[in-house]
Amino acid sequence: MADRPTLERLVKLNDVWLSRKDVLHGIKKYDVSSRKIRIHTDCGEVITVNNSRRSASARSLRNSKYRKVCKLCKLSDERINRFVAKDFYDPGITYVEAPVKKSAPKKVLKKGMAEASTVQTAPVAAETPQKAVSIAPQAAAQTTQTVSQSTQSTSKEPVSVSAKEKFSPSQRKRLEALLISDEINLDDPNLPPFEELEAEMVSKRKAELVDIYENSREHMLAKLERDISAFLISKGFIEIKSSILIPEEYIIRMGIDKDVELSKQVFRTDDGKCLRPMLAPVLYNYLHRFGKVMPDPLRIFEIGPCYRKESDGSSHLEEFTMVNFCQMGEGCTRENLVQLIDEFLTYLGISYEIEGDECMVYGATVDVMHGDLELSSAVVGPVPMDMDWGIDKPWIGAGFGLERLLKAKYNFKNIKRGSRSEFYYNGIYTNL
Ligand SMILES: [Zn+2]
Repeated sequence: MADRPTLERLVKLNDVWLSRKDVLHGIKKYDVSSRKIRIHTDCGEVITVNNSRRSASARSLRNSKYRKVCKLCKLSDERINRFVAKDFYDPGITYVEAPVKKSAPKKVLKKGMAEASTVQTAPVAAETPQKAVSIAPQAAAQTTQTVSQSTQSTSKEPVSVSAKEKFSPSQRKRLEALLISDEINLDDPNLPPFEELEAEMVSKRKAELVDIYENSREHMLAKLERDISAFLISKGFIEIKSSILIPEEYIIRMGIDKDVELSKQVFRTDDGKCLRPMLAPVLYNYLHRFGKVMPDPLRIFEIGPCYRKESDGSSHLEEFTMVNFCQMGEGCTRENLVQLIDEFLTYLGISYEIEGDECMVYGATVDVMHGDLELSSAVVGPVPMDMDWGIDKPWIGAGFGLERLLKAKYNFKNIKRGSRSEFYYNGIYTNL
């Protein structure tokens, strides 16, 4: 028995196109990509469909029935008869061009309510190697959210809507994706029906995207980076841009190899390098080198991407943006550090509380919190690790994850909304 021919072959053999309303059109030409076919009819219509053996289009072209013939296409009887008779199908011919794929389950993208791990300040402070590589434990406690990339109706989930639940699970996921923060309580029994609510939210989100396009045209993550740069430069910090690909040896010198969990999280390449999981190592090198050149105190900062593999795959960002700023030499007191953090977060319009331990043997950490969200763990040096990097002056420093700052500022439920993404733009779901 012949395999079902591809839609491309059906288009070629039939030489006519049957519209959804069962109107027969002539095919002037067609273009084929790996996934789609674009049909140009003789009457000037352009139709793009999935190049699938199983689509409705393929089914109708295998069929011989039609409702009427397009007048504009001026189809000859010969072409109509060819479609009806299907005598191009020789029973002896098999149409095995490619194995028919088993119907794949609908794609459901798992989206982490991911938090960038709190990355240690630069340079990283360490009372113990373990402390040096600690990442915020609360980051792992984030819940996850699954977002169906296709529309709600394609899911195979049972659509049993109990009396309590107004929306099916897939409808709920769709609505959650469309919500930016807590603007609507989905458990509110007085909400309109799904179709109405979805349409309302889609049009709201579209209007917001158009507004961005017509007015600011700025990506919030990029803008935050620019704002932070401007602030730190105005405060006397020199901007650094170092390589994202760093020698793995730096990671070992930061003590990360001693922490099994964090060590597993490093993206390694095959030539002894890795994607930087933090900015600290290179900033240490800059402190050492610029410390010999620049007047005292030395102030440096860097903003850029960092990478950490996440084994749970759902509660963290693997790709996030850090800013680290540090000062070395004169004036490296806890008071000055807290003052600087205050000016920084006030400038960004983000509320915070400071928690911290002032009486540690080596340096003091200053935890900067926004509610339960840790924004930064800042450090008053010196710390023992300094000698491995040739640093022998006091320093203060802090590191912030930019996606966390956005989450705090805009009250995002999901850190991905402000991250590098094709699914969200400035917090707005893009599959509208
Ligand atoms: Zn036509």
